[in-house]
Amino acid sequence: MTTYTPMMQQYLSIKSDYEDAFLFYRLGDFYEMFFEDAIKASQILEITLTGRDAGTKERIPMCGVPFHSAKGYIETLVSKGHKVAICEQTESPKQAKGVVRREVVQLITPGTIMEGKTIDGKSNHFIACAEELSNNSFALAYLDVSTGEAATTVVEGGTKGLLQQLLTFSIRELVVTEQLQLLLAEQASSLGIVLSLEQEEMAEEPSAKYISKLPGELKGVAKSLLRYVERTQMRNLSHIQPFTYTETKQLLRIDTNSKRNLELLESIRGGDQKGTLLWLLDETVTAMGGRKLKQWLHQPLATRSAIENRLSIVTDLLDEFFVRNELKELLKNVYDLERLAGRVAFGNVGGRDLAQLRESLRQVPSIKQQLMNAGKPTLARLGEKLDECGDIEAFLSKAITDNPPIAIKEGDVIREGYNDKLDELRFASRNGKDWIAQLEQKERELTGIKNLKIGYNRIFGYYIEITKSNIANADLSRYERKQTLANAERYITEELKEKEAIILNAEEQSLALEYDLFVQLRDQLKVFIPRVQALAAEISELDVYISFAVVSEKYRFVKPSFHESRALKIVGGRHPVVEKMLNKQMYVPNDCVLPNEKNMMLITGPNMSGKSTYMRQVALIVVLAQMGCYVPADEAVLPITDQIFTRIGAADDLVAGQSTFMVEMLESQNAITNATEKSLLLFDEIGRGTSTYDGMALAQSMMEYIHDKIGANTLFSTHYHELTALEQQLARLQNVHVSATEKDGKVVFLHKVRQGAADKSYGVHVASLAEMPEEIINRARVLLEQFEAKDLGASSVAASVINEAATDDELQLSLFEEEAIIPPADSDKKLSEIEVEVLERLEK
Ligand code: ADP
Repeated sequence: MTTYTPMMQQYLSIKSDYEDAFLFYRLGDFYEMFFEDAIKASQILEITLTGRDAGTKERIPMCGVPFHSAKGYIETLVSKGHKVAICEQTESPKQAKGVVRREVVQLITPGTIMEGKTIDGKSNHFIACAEELSNNSFALAYLDVSTGEAATTVVEGGTKGLLQQLLTFSIRELVVTEQLQLLLAEQASSLGIVLSLEQEEMAEEPSAKYISKLPGELKGVAKSLLRYVERTQMRNLSHIQPFTYTETKQLLRIDTNSKRNLELLESIRGGDQKGTLLWLLDETVTAMGGRKLKQWLHQPLATRSAIENRLSIVTDLLDEFFVRNELKELLKNVYDLERLAGRVAFGNVGGRDLAQLRESLRQVPSIKQQLMNAGKPTLARLGEKLDECGDIEAFLSKAITDNPPIAIKEGDVIREGYNDKLDELRFASRNGKDWIAQLEQKERELTGIKNLKIGYNRIFGYYIEITKSNIANADLSRYERKQTLANAERYITEELKEKEAIILNAEEQSLALEYDLFVQLRDQLKVFIPRVQALAAEISELDVYISFAVVSEKYRFVKPSFHESRALKIVGGRHPVVEKMLNKQMYVPNDCVLPNEKNMMLITGPNMSGKSTYMRQVALIVVLAQMGCYVPADEAVLPITDQIFTRIGAADDLVAGQSTFMVEMLESQNAITNATEKSLLLFDEIGRGTSTYDGMALAQSMMEYIHDKIGANTLFSTHYHELTALEQQLARLQNVHVSATEKDGKVVFLHKVRQGAADKSYGVHVASLAEMPEEIINRARVLLEQFEAKDLGASSVAASVINEAATDDELQLSLFEEEAIIPPADSDKKLSEIEVEVLERLEK
């Protein structure tokens, strides 16, 4: 090592502390990288790899990015899961003896990056830390460095549950112990989650205020996360809020798969949010409100009083159309207070940010007034809680100009009257400029040259410019020549030189003072951060409530009511997203009545008839209600649900490439082991991924188990029509079917859910709808008739079909014979009036 130049030695010594990061080593106007860093970065960033003398025989690899455009490069590296250590010169080269002192001033990691394309205003950007607790669960702490929000939770379900949770919150970086790192490494890397090691050696304990609200077992993980963030960010983190903890039993728990299956925040097909519940619900006007809505959607409530409290606020906002509209307009002028507070803490807030903060605060008195004067106690209570922050607004108004520029070194940020010295300097420089204008006038008169002008440039300062054609006739004895141009000469005079010094001096001093004042002011603002954050929390909730009211009105939602029993009754329920996406066609509303003593439903009906939509709509209504929003129905009387589990086809498992059937079984297993009497279970087409025999047996035994051991409200859809016979065996099971009918030899879906089992299979007709070749369709029709003509004696109940040794062939055939299997109790042979109506609508 001694052979390296002193600078290289310094580099290597710093680099040894940041082995896992790209070290951006500041050299003049560039950040340079060396050795392995240089080779890798040049490939990733597509920049030229060069070399540099470092005292050794061979040149060492080097590449660099310009200081002023480093942001984009840093973003690229971090978005690919790398870390970047920013190493700056921390003394002026003029003062340095030997190599200029350099230090790492910030470590930018995937979880802590605060700016760039990857950071979306309406999403949180969390970094997390996990520690293993006993019995297969993990303590998880997470925080958003940009907004200061911090929370903890306990995650069940082992490492799989943990990783699922990270995906749910889009967490890109997890802080772990070495042991946990080994355990998670492979899966995490396949999911694009970066694992970072905990910093044990940090001596200083994070302040107790951050963790005082937490139960003992969660304090450790929160501290570890704080230590990591402090170590990487190396600056004031006063905006980080105390960690919150919500007991899981206060929340409606929905596992990640189910969130995806129900398309709460992301659509199954991936891509944008179109088609998700979030897409439908998001009428928020502030970025903070957008984030809050997502949080509520992730974690609907499970305590009745809290839900009813939210609902009553929505009711009042619905009643008060004008108040709601006025509030919405006011909120449009509120900027992202949380991120602004974060920037104040970080010390990277600019003049324009402060103007935005001020503009936002200016809305608060009117918001408060609207809430207080609406004549509604719930709204008045919201209003009372609002801190108007008038003192902060006054402070900013006094200090900051109306339209400050983005840059803070160009002046025009601090308002006149804020500081005497600044006013004086500005006066001097402005006065000087007036004086110059007068001098120009005076010189024109003295020389008689009308187009004589006084100009300024950085190299020569102020000068008098005279075009060549005018020079000959003028008396220029007082002038000293400075510069010759093609068609003009530039001069200065003694007088001009003197004044120039004063003007430039005043200007320079004024800019410097202005900057100092701004930095001071920025520091003074730090004490206000907690108040701004508290205000942000209130405002963001208000934004969500208004959004709920707007959505509820727009889509004709009704207020759900809750009771203590597990019975569920939805009259005229709709799937709000499917409804919104249907163009022209009418959505067919459906009831779902699950009385206490008949709370399992087996849904049959042809493909495409609407089984899956029906099941999802029940779950969405439960989710919406427990978020505190109205629901798409004519009436909804609901229990408080503790968990929702879904097994709905077509979701591919992200965590590992398991077969569809395996995924199905894992999801079912998860539901069956964790569900309680208060849960809602949705099983769509269970057992489809395996042979008929297998699948039917599994489906039946699962239903029996749920019936006998769990008792949860359960919706089961199946194409094994034999299973409908179970109604006779399981007391709490009811059969329903989604009706379809034929018209001119084609199937028409009515999407109407009716009592009893389905009475006919429409497989062949669906095939014909799909424009399967005529030949196949015709042949299938012939075969179907043959099958129907044959009496296979399969009309015994499904249970016995499974128990007795039937061949696979016989079972397959029996699928075409529902009619024989279950004589439909009240099957609708004739089209009811409603159906005819719907049919006509569909035909149009
Ligand atoms: P299944 O699960 O029975 O195969 P889906 O639930 O996927 O059927 O529904 C198929 C399509 O039928 C949906 O994409 C939707 O366009 C339409 N649909 C379903 N339910 C309704 C309804 N109640 N009203 C109107 N259209 C519906």
